[in-house]
Order: sequence, then structure tokens, then C-alpha cells
Amino acid sequence: MSIAKSQAAIVIGGGPAGLTTAISLAEGGVRTVLVRLHPARPDNRTTALLAGSITALEALGVWSLCADRAAPLSTMRIVDDTGRLWRAPEVKFTAHEIGREAFGYNIENRHLVEALEKRARDLPALQIIDDEVVGLAPRTDAVVIDLRGGDILHGRIAVGADGRKSICRAAAGIALDERSYPQVALTLCLSHTRPHHDTSTEFHTPNGPFTLVPLPGNRSSLVWVLDPGAADALAALDDAALAAAVEKASHSILGKLSVEPGRGLFPLNVATARCFARNRIALVGEAAHVLPPIGAQGLNLGLRDAATIGELVVAAHRDGRDIGADDLLSRYERVRRADVDSRTLAIDLLNRALLSDLLPLQGVRGLGLYLLDQIGPLRRAVMREGIAPAVNQPRLMRGEAL
Ligand SMILES: Cc1cc2nc3c(=O)[nH]c(=O)nc-3n(C[C@H](O)[C@H](O)[C@H](O)COP(=O)(O)OP(=O)(O)OC[C@H]3O[C@@H](n4cnc5c(N)ncnc54)[C@H](O)[C@@H]3O)c2cc1C
Repeated sequence: MSIAKSQAAIVIGGGPAGLTTAISLAEGGVRTVLVRLHPARPDNRTTALLAGSITALEALGVWSLCADRAAPLSTMRIVDDTGRLWRAPEVKFTAHEIGREAFGYNIENRHLVEALEKRARDLPALQIIDDEVVGLAPRTDAVVIDLRGGDILHGRIAVGADGRKSICRAAAGIALDERSYPQVALTLCLSHTRPHHDTSTEFHTPNGPFTLVPLPGNRSSLVWVLDPGAADALAALDDAALAAAVEKASHSILGKLSVEPGRGLFPLNVATARCFARNRIALVGEAAHVLPPIGAQGLNLGLRDAATIGELVVAAHRDGRDIGADDLLSRYERVRRADVDSRTLAIDLLNRALLSDLLPLQGVRGLGLYLLDQIGPLRRAVMREGIAPAVNQPRLMRGEAL
């Protein structure tokens, strides 16, 4: 098979960032092909989708397909559980303080992806191919894409949504700045006897955050950041022993716990592509940036990438311009860079301050949290910026159609 070159866009990767990109493009009338390789393991993680992401998913007709499986995040607590000399006060962020019902919603990734796939299948302009991309060759007027099954695709633009080890990034000749942390995130879902009151609680421990995030009913998801040895030891426990360990670390705030089947271990790193688009290839989601799971930013950034490239390509298609032209790709880079770099820097600093044994760094972290606790306007500004950037919000995140 070789599809016509005309105005076709090829999206590589069927995770949440790729599916959202493909839906945005096809909704805007761009003939789109999504090539996806199914992940080797089921994803038991959940995603805290912040307000702008929910608005975009509503605009794309996805949110109504999964809203009943998500829990609102109305309050976020940060509790200093480091036991150190410079301990910060507990800080509580409430959505009501900035005039919202909720900061966003937490949903299991499998339910989000299922809803995205359902919406994708309904769009006549979108073709889905289950195969693996094994090669991409950017040419002057198209990208030529080889599939493992032997087919060859031609697209005016290729959008790489193929995750951390992106073959698209390599084909575009884009380098990656990357650093690993001595930390692993243990993820699981659990049920509990006490209600969570739509509150997520992040205990800051000397090895990283221990975060409980609400799910519908008396259920929550856990992201527990630990040193690698401790993470392996916990993951090897039986359900009862693991539940007891989680309950102890949570100071029993949710009562008695039962862990559900499925545990994930994710080594933590931070990585940013030096450029987000060139040679007719644009990167979205973790192909472009990887963040540690602190402050629920990773996929929210990925969805803003998807909405932005969707907006630029749909506008070019409507005007009859080349949808993979250099000026479009440069614009994408300009629009996304500040959002990605500022959040990466903030999360990296926060994580390093938590891990550091240096008293001055601990003091700065404690002072930052103290100021957030004491100064209402500062706290509200941080909350607003945390859920959405003040500038360059893509149209979908503002609830506008493409
Ligand atoms: C513990 C943890 C908790 C997190 N919690 C949050 C949170 O609360 N909020 C938040 O915003 N973010 C969170 N994140 C980040 C979020 O999970 C990621 O940003 C998101 O999953 C990345 O989605 P993606 O679509 O970019 O990549 P992926 O989900 O990795 O999808 C990539 C897809 O591409 C496919 N693929 C790869 N290579 C090829 C190929 N050659 N051909 C075809 N297909 C290919 C893969 O099979 C895969 O399906 C968390 C991350 C971790 C580790």
C-alpha cells in the first residue's frame, strides 16, 4: 500500500498523545493515517488530566465517552514527610479558591485510551493501521515511512507520538538531552475504607513523593517514588504485605487498604528533545519530553502538543498550504518550547531539592512551600499556572473547534 502524497498526515504511535493528535487532525478535515504498535504490557497507571486537557477532550467528543470513569480533583495537599530539620508546612490547594469545581480529573489510562480509540474509529478521515514503523526518510516534499509488514506510506507530515525511544526523533536527526534520577516509581490502584473527598495527597519523603490520587468511589491510584532497591522489594511483596506497607506510608489517611491486581515500575528520568520539529517530522508527547511524575504535567503537556500541531496543520490545510512546511514546523517549535522548558525546569528543581541532603536547598524548598501557604495571591497564581500556561493556550484547550 502507498497512500497518495497530497495532504495526508501520518501519526506514529497509538498512546494518548498520538490518538489525540490523529483525532484533532481528522476532525479538522485532514486525511490522516495513524500507525500504532500495541504496547507490550498493559498500562496500569492513571492520569490526572488538568482543566485545559478536559476542555480539549470535550471539544474532540472524547470526554463524554469516559467522564463517568474519572474522579474530580478538588483539593491537592502537599505534606512534608521528610522528617528533616527544615520541614515545610502542609500546603493545601483548593479549586474553589480559583473559582473552579475541580483542578481536573483522574482517570485510569486504559479507560482514557479506550475512549480515544472509540472516537478515532468514528472519524471517516482517519485510517488506523496496526503495524510497526521501522523506517522514516524525510524528502523534500514528503516523508516516506516503512512498515514492518512491508507497506510504504507517504505523508506531507509525520507526527512522532512514538514515546520515549522515538524512531521519529532519530529519523528527524533530533538529539535528546537526558538525565536519570536514582528513583523508581511504583504504581498501583487500591481500594480503601475511608473516603478520599476528591483530595489528592502528596507526601514528600526523602526519596521522592508518595502520591495518592482519587478514583471514582472508595478507590485511589498510588505513585510511590522510591530508591530502586526499595521499589523492587515492595513490588515483590504479596498483596497483603504491600497493602500494609502502603497503609503505613500513607499514615492510614484512607483507612484500611486493599491493593488491586497490576503493579508498574517506572525508572525516573527527565528528557527533552533539542528541537520539536524538523524535516517534515513533528514530535508530540514523550517523543518530545519526558518528566518525572510530579505535579501531573507529563501527558497534560503532551495533549497541548497534540492540540497545537492539530491547530497549525488544520489551518494550513484549509488555506491550501503545505502541511509539513518548514515555517509551520518552526512555529510549532516556538509555541511549545517555553511551556515544556519551564515545566521541566520547575519539576526537576523540586525533585532535586527533595532528594538533596544539602541544608540550604532543603531550606529553599521549605521556604517556597511556606510562602505558598501564607500568600494567597501567590498560591492562586501558582494554581492557575499549574493547570494551564498563561500564554499560548491552543484553541482546543480554550474549548474552540479547530
Ligand atoms: C508513574 C507515572 C505517572 C504519571 N502520571 C501522570 C499524570 O498524572 N498526569 C500526566 O499528565 N502525566 C502523567 N504521567 C506521564 C504520562 O503517563 C505520559 O506523558 C504519557 O503516558 C505519554 O503518552 P504518549 O502517548 O506520549 O506515549 P506512550 O503512551 O508511550 O505511547 C507511545 C506509543 O507509540 C507506540 N510506538 C512506539 N514505537 C512505535 C513504532 N515504531 N511504530 C508504531 N508505534 C510505535 C507504542 O507502542 C505506544 O503505544 C505519568 C508518568 C508516569 C511514569
